[in-house]
Amino acid sequence: MSLLPPQIQKTIEEFSKLPGIGPKSAERLTFHLLRSSKASPEGLGGSLMTLKNELKYCKDCQMVTLQEQCSLCADSSRDHSTILVVENPLDVVAFEKTSFKGVYHVLHGVLSPIDGMGPEQLKMKELVDRCTDGTVTEIIVATNPDIEGEATASYIQKQLGGAVEKITRLAHGLPMGADIEFADQVTLKEALAGRRDV
Ligand code: ZN
Repeated sequence: MSLLPPQIQKTIEEFSKLPGIGPKSAERLTFHLLRSSKASPEGLGGSLMTLKNELKYCKDCQMVTLQEQCSLCADSSRDHSTILVVENPLDVVAFEKTSFKGVYHVLHGVLSPIDGMGPEQLKMKELVDRCTDGTVTEIIVATNPDIEGEATASYIQKQLGGAVEKITRLAHGLPMGADIEFADQVTLKEALAGRRDV
């Protein structure tokens, strides 16, 4: 029998279900919450409940929002004929720091058979539905340059090839400051394929 009260065991168990949190980290987080004056269980619990109960996905782009439609989709000054397809809501935040003025589509993941992620687990149908009336002229696929991201990009190409005039993929390759020695094979392949004149 464990020396720890079952409530503590339960909290440790719940933390362990999160990605990247092993049993040791789960224990540390649990006891931290009990001790800390800054991180309170009430604060964490409350914001998690709000997250679940009040947040919605935008009816158009699937971005997290408090309304039916997010502020980006509701903005008529943006170019609604260009959709930038991303994996996660945080990618939208990153692209909003660039001068991109089109709209987005958040897939909420990438195709990954190993993790049980097929097209039905992603917001893929919603993307196809947005492209049926002919108003979308360009899809820019901005999934990450890894195996899953590439597979997702070619799936989108296959699904939308006939419906959208132009389907593009972000140019990518070695990031500034990268060390070729440590770059993986996909990155190097992309860097070679995307080579340009100097
Ligand atoms: Zn939206």
